[in-house]
Amino acid sequence: MKYHIENFGCQMNEHDMEKVRHLLHVAGFEAASAATDADVVIVNTCCVREKAEQKFYSLMGRLRRLKAKSTVVLGVMGCVAQLEKEHILEKLPFIDFSLGTSNVHRVEEAIRIARTEKRKLLSFSENGCEASLHVRPGGKGRLRSFVTIMKGCDNFCSYCVVPYVRGREKSRKSSDIIEEVKELAAGGVREVTLLGQNVNSYNKGSDDCTFAQLLEKINDIDGLERIRFVTSHPKDLSPDLIRCFGRLEKLCEQIHLPFQSGSNRILGLMNRGYTAEEYLGLVHSLRKQCPGIAITADCIVGFPGERGQDFSDTQALVEEVRFDGLFSFCYSPRPETRAATLPDRVPREIAMERLKGLQATQKIITREKNCGLEGSTVEVLVEGSSKSSPEEFAGRTRTNRIVNFAGSEDLVGSLVELKVVKGYANSLRGAIPRPKEGGTC
Ligand code: SAH
Ligand code: SF4
Repeated sequence: MKYHIENFGCQMNEHDMEKVRHLLHVAGFEAASAATDADVVIVNTCCVREKAEQKFYSLMGRLRRLKAKSTVVLGVMGCVAQLEKEHILEKLPFIDFSLGTSNVHRVEEAIRIARTEKRKLLSFSENGCEASLHVRPGGKGRLRSFVTIMKGCDNFCSYCVVPYVRGREKSRKSSDIIEEVKELAAGGVREVTLLGQNVNSYNKGSDDCTFAQLLEKINDIDGLERIRFVTSHPKDLSPDLIRCFGRLEKLCEQIHLPFQSGSNRILGLMNRGYTAEEYLGLVHSLRKQCPGIAITADCIVGFPGERGQDFSDTQALVEEVRFDGLFSFCYSPRPETRAATLPDRVPREIAMERLKGLQATQKIITREKNCGLEGSTVEVLVEGSSKSSPEEFAGRTRTNRIVNFAGSEDLVGSLVELKVVKGYANSLRGAIPRPKEGGTC
């Protein structure tokens, strides 16, 4: 039996599909080269913005034709499944199963029921979350791995559908997480990224350890070289957590800290729980604690009621912080969210124009920052061949920049010191430094 997966969305979704692949391999399935070659096709969905949902429905149009002329089992998983629940069958009556975000562990059962009983399994329960959270994809043959430390979100930012599709916050026990990371490190994983919608509210209200304490424990694990985490919310970024940077040697000097808007009026309407000044204060503290830290962020333009001045505040914040990278989006009204009912929608053309302006500003900053690294030495975890040129090799710096360089296969999996010879818009070019001449031994 062969399976094929189409995945949309964030790292959480990517990681959920790693879990699905693992469950299917254990059950004897093999990966197919394409949907047309598969016995089972799974589409994992995202609904954070309308565009992702539209792409999913147009893919389903194509898969419907494949289904009509074959015996392929077709399943939908993830956020759209959770959002639509049973109603998904009104839109996609031809699918064989639909599993919500907390039902990853039921994938093999859903396929079996579809094949042997010709029945559709639809499961969207939150009670599945414990089992779902504990599925481990294993780390065999990988250098980097995600590790889920918590799921869900209690923040209810007014624009965001995530709390409705990923449910309430639930943290995994620290002892389970440590055990998983130890297993991964023993299996050859050198870098872990701790995952959660809001990792820095890990264990809020529990007497298990705090997020900063969890990082300390992971930092002590032998064989592991690097730790990252994503995503953090500014309102939960504690001084304790800030002090971890530069102090815990395995914690990479990098943080993704979405600010969403530079206007306090819009931040209030978004229900973000901080002001632009407070956000800038956090950036200052992070840089004071760890001067080389790379800071990236998300932001939304064209939120309902955003006026020219509000957008200028966002632009000013971007210019002041000089982020290492920025993911910016046009506001997209989402079902069930409070912002979808707000008046004063910003016309699409204006929002697009603002987005383009902001992206142009950031592009210059990113390139300048990358060029500013020319001549410096960076530590790179070599991951394999470069995407841009297969004869070359690529890896990431501790600040999460991609570096391409001329190397050799035996370097894959190791940490190398490279000299940055050129900075580009999205990557760096590195070189293995020549040994100094004239040494005595
Ligand atoms: N939990 C993370 C990520 C949430 S979704 C966090 O809080 O940062 C990733 C990003 O998508 C958000 O940071 C936000 O910038 C963007 N986003 C979420 N909902 C959106 C919407 N309705 N319209 C446009 N962008 C949105
Ligand atoms: Fe969405 Fe806000 Fe939760 Fe992030 S913190 S997932 S933006 S509700």
